[in-house]
Amino acid sequence: MTASSMEELVSLCKRRGFIFQSNDIYGGIKGLYDYGPMGVELKNNLKQAWWKSMVYERDDIEGLDASILSAPVVLQQSGHEDTFTDPLVDCKNCKSRWRADQLINNTCPECKSKNLTDPRPFNLMFKTAIGPVDDGSSFAYLRPETCQQIFTNFKNITDSTSRVVPFGIAQIGKAFRNEITPRNFIFRVREFEQMELEFFVKPGSDDAWHKYWVEKRIAWWETQGVSIKNLYPTEVEKAELSHYSKATVDIMYEFPHGKEELEGIANRTDFDLGSHTKNQKEYNITSEVKKNEHSTTKLGVQNLDEKTTYIPYVIEPSAGVERGLLAILNEAYTIENLENGNIRTVLKFKPHLSPIKAAVIPLKKNNEQIVAKAKAIKNELQNLGLGRVILENSGNIGKNYRRHDEIGTPICITVDFETLDDDSVTVRDRDSMNQERVSSKNLNQFYQKYFIK
Ligand code: ATP
Repeated sequence: MTASSMEELVSLCKRRGFIFQSNDIYGGIKGLYDYGPMGVELKNNLKQAWWKSMVYERDDIEGLDASILSAPVVLQQSGHEDTFTDPLVDCKNCKSRWRADQLINNTCPECKSKNLTDPRPFNLMFKTAIGPVDDGSSFAYLRPETCQQIFTNFKNITDSTSRVVPFGIAQIGKAFRNEITPRNFIFRVREFEQMELEFFVKPGSDDAWHKYWVEKRIAWWETQGVSIKNLYPTEVEKAELSHYSKATVDIMYEFPHGKEELEGIANRTDFDLGSHTKNQKEYNITSEVKKNEHSTTKLGVQNLDEKTTYIPYVIEPSAGVERGLLAILNEAYTIENLENGNIRTVLKFKPHLSPIKAAVIPLKKNNEQIVAKAKAIKNELQNLGLGRVILENSGNIGKNYRRHDEIGTPICITVDFETLDDDSVTVRDRDSMNQERVSSKNLNQFYQKYFIK
């Protein structure tokens, strides 16, 4: 089941501590959000799942965590200074500003006037001063995507790991875009995180690798609980392709506000390493790159068979963490009509993504023995290292179940008087609501089965 509207998700996210408007108590800033106690766990779990599948479960990908502040030359060479723009129009009537390509019938969404300026390019990159003198002479960009620092570190990584093509470099981190009209909750924001893989391949093998990564990425979203029927891999039309791309498949998802891009998988050819390399003339670069007079490093690799050097092609699966969260929240959101006439809201996350893995509830909050036993169970499960386990020592049991359904906790474990006699606890399953008695000595195994398949 999915949410019937974005409002339902926004309201649950605020009520249960997933996502808040940033700078809320001062009226907020558009396009910025903060992740609360549940949000930070969900976000970390999603990023960890991506890292695990990209880096730990493979033998051909290395990780990287590069700086956010970027030297302008990097973004000049990449083409961002010239082309990372959206068409901006002003409404002459109400003075609001819009992205021209998102307007319906060239009409101002605010006042419905058609009296608009001609579109002009607006660069989406944020700038900041570097060093103590803010006279414009020394500035940096906040990176608009994470991948450029992967390219500038290419030689550092091949030298330090002895990797040869085909291989990849993965990075998760913040990116910043001064979006003209941030909207649809966390779908389009000005500060977000990307999970990007740059996979370097031999020219000629690029089409096959592109297809491979499209399939891999769709399968990965499915394992995060995103139903295949809501995913639409869509070939980007030639005229719409970015300047570096030979082919791009956008994985579109049916968000509550409409079908839009969740992840893009691009064949970036030899544009990136070709743009950042020293001695461009030494290579047979196939894409149209800007002349590079600044790079200190050659980024070509050896073709051992032919004893030549070449610039690798790049296949890039690039996913947004926030858009991933929105899709996962939407997929998990379920309203159930219970037999007793009540309605329950439950987030049916895949257990590995649940912000809280288990809630341990002492039935009597003022019984020392029960509370001590609950604390001991909490500590033991916590030490298994599968994520956050909490001791729920406030509220009644019904309220606790409701809260944990709404934040998607796979199991609630209740310690009661019987526990003191027979050392067993009641375990309630989130999805079936079935309750069963489990002996304390089997609890670790019972719990682990939810997460380790
Ligand atoms: P869009 O066309 O929706 O603006 P894009 O094609 O510019 O997206 P890319 O540059 O391909 O996006 O970025 C890769 C991924 O980063 C996107 O698929 C998306 O998940 C995420 N992303 C891009 N811009 C934003 C944003 N403003 N807010 C949240 N996530 C974003």
